[in-house]
Amino acid sequence: MAQILDGKSFAQKIQDNLKTAIATLSPKMGRPPGLAVLMVGDNPASAAYVRNKERACERIGMASFGKHFPADITQAELEAVIQELNQDERVDGILVQLPLPPHLDSVGLLLTIAPEKDADGLHPLNLGHLVRSEPGLRSCTPYGVMELLKEYDVPLEGKKAVVVGRSILVGKPLALMLLEANATVTVAHSRTQDLAAVTREADILVAAIGKPEFITAEMIKPGAVVIDVGINRVTDPETGKSRLVGDVAYTEAAQVAAQITPVPGGIGPMTVAMLLQNTFNSYQNKANR
Ligand code: NDP
Repeated sequence: MAQILDGKSFAQKIQDNLKTAIATLSPKMGRPPGLAVLMVGDNPASAAYVRNKERACERIGMASFGKHFPADITQAELEAVIQELNQDERVDGILVQLPLPPHLDSVGLLLTIAPEKDADGLHPLNLGHLVRSEPGLRSCTPYGVMELLKEYDVPLEGKKAVVVGRSILVGKPLALMLLEANATVTVAHSRTQDLAAVTREADILVAAIGKPEFITAEMIKPGAVVIDVGINRVTDPETGKSRLVGDVAYTEAAQVAAQITPVPGGIGPMTVAMLLQNTFNSYQNKANR
């Protein structure tokens, strides 16, 4: 059976360290770090994610400036809110919870966020820094994957990494981070031919697809490290109860892989921890100025 890469407990450790660092730095700064999460509409999954982030802020002594807007808010109104937060000295990180209602342009909003407060690391300037291997805020989910691999001393240099999924949120930035760590990286997607042949080559296989239990045991090289980014809610047809599953068929994959992340309790909590870490880093940069 594969070793579990326990994102939940490592994320807890990161939060504990942040709590200590905040307690040390707050007196010098005269304030705690602050994160503003903007949510639009009533998507229940988004509401749960936002609550989760606000609770995490509270636990570590980070101020949260959450704002909830009705689904019919205009682009201009939201941009004005972001401009205000850009100027607000108490705010070190700003995050717009996705997805947004279709009338809103998420890229336009992202461009409005001051790059040094871009807690999600998705501003084109921060993505550009990543492409150039320069310091900058990194997108939280791929950053969380990299930190978890580091925590478990998973060797990356010279290894074959396959990332299934090429979104701007996960797949593409993660491929760049793995490349930065000197892995040989392949990015697969919906047009990839003979996907199983590609994934079976991977020493490190990452699934960021959004399809429940899509990666099966025969797609995994024996002894590989499997990172499951997917979060999918499925309903059991017999009991009618819903539960979360990843993009990897966990039980069978764990028979083949050497190490694997669970869902829930893997990359999800790491993503939240990295959001807090990014916000803290922006705060700390101000202290060092
Ligand atoms: P997107 O829908 O933006 O991207 C999915 C990617 O998977 C696309 O590149 C797509 O290819 C590829 N894909 C779809 N079907 C196939 C297929 N049959 N074979 C190969 N590739 C395929 O999703 P995200 O990247 O935003 O999210 C992926 C998953 O990760 C979701 O389950 C999401 O909920 C989860 N997630 C989890 C987070 C966490 O905190 N753990 C954070 C963010 C996301 P193509 O480009 O060709 O369409």
